[in-house]
Amino acid sequence: MAAGRPHGPGEPLNTPIVPASTFEAGGDRNYSRENGTPTWEALEQVIGDLEGGHATAFASGIATLAAIIDITPVGAKVAVPTFSYAGSRGLLAHAHRTGRLVVTELPPDETDAWTGSDADLLWLESPTNPTLDVMDLKAIAAATSGRVVVDNTFATPLGQQPLSIGADIVVHSATKLIGGHSDLLLGLTIAAEPALAKELRDARTRNGATPGALEAYLALRGLRTLPVRLAEQTRTAATLAERLAAHPAVTKVRYPGEGMMIAFELPDAESADAVTARLRLIRRATSLGGVESVVERRAWLAGDAHVPAGLLRFSVGLEDPEDLWRDLASALG
Ligand SMILES: *Cc1c(COP(=O)(O)O)cnc(C)c1O
Repeated sequence: MAAGRPHGPGEPLNTPIVPASTFEAGGDRNYSRENGTPTWEALEQVIGDLEGGHATAFASGIATLAAIIDITPVGAKVAVPTFSYAGSRGLLAHAHRTGRLVVTELPPDETDAWTGSDADLLWLESPTNPTLDVMDLKAIAAATSGRVVVDNTFATPLGQQPLSIGADIVVHSATKLIGGHSDLLLGLTIAAEPALAKELRDARTRNGATPGALEAYLALRGLRTLPVRLAEQTRTAATLAERLAAHPAVTKVRYPGEGMMIAFELPDAESADAVTARLRLIRRATSLGGVESVVERRAWLAGDAHVPAGLLRFSVGLEDPEDLWRDLASALG
């Protein structure tokens, strides 16, 4: 990945952290909120290349959805998967309650409901958080005349590039797999068309949803190692998913066959909580996609109360696979 690197004799290999709000007049940049900074731009260039579009960095993943709502006409019809990131559904539900949008939730695996939808904006997520449903993005994008947005946080651009199959906008919570070290909050939009990218950038400027200089640097640094982290964490996740599926205490394992995310189920909330309380190496924490393994029973969240009570979302880290299995096996008892 040469993208996003300074180039030339005496240049640093990595784009510096540029903590600037303002720039001397007469150049391309005036004020960071409006024109960006070299650090944001380096990150935008790399993710734009990977997804095949025009990228804009935001303060967080959820700020990308806020910007998309901002550029959507009042009263527009929006469809969102029933089982998808609770924060996204929460923000859309708020827009529905306040009369800003008309939001419908559709089951992610019922492709016919999506291809038959007359929504003006289809908010897709695949695999979904936390139930790991895989949506037929291609069929849905081909069938609709509405705007197609794909939350590609779980798949990453290495797993799929939705713009290449007809999506209009891809979004990422770079807080998760792209950052990869649980040390930042940042969001990214990648638009297929430059005019749409400009609308999103203008929304960022208007609303001030700008990333921090350090966060942009860390996200770019994380993105550079995403291929090796993803390969290793996927290998470990595949092994653990297979062993979990064979374990008598586990009632169901959801693993799409790729990626570092597993969801596995225990009979009820009590047994799931008892298992997580016995884990030592795997930490009980929200969020995902980092080098450290974390587990969370999602139904405790109000927004995910409809998720099976005993479902544990498991983000597989870079620890030794056998250490992780010993921890799981001993906690499952
Ligand atoms: C975490 C997450 C978000 C929200 O991102 P933040 O960076 O926390 O604002 C959006 N979509 C998915 C799939 C996520 O996992």
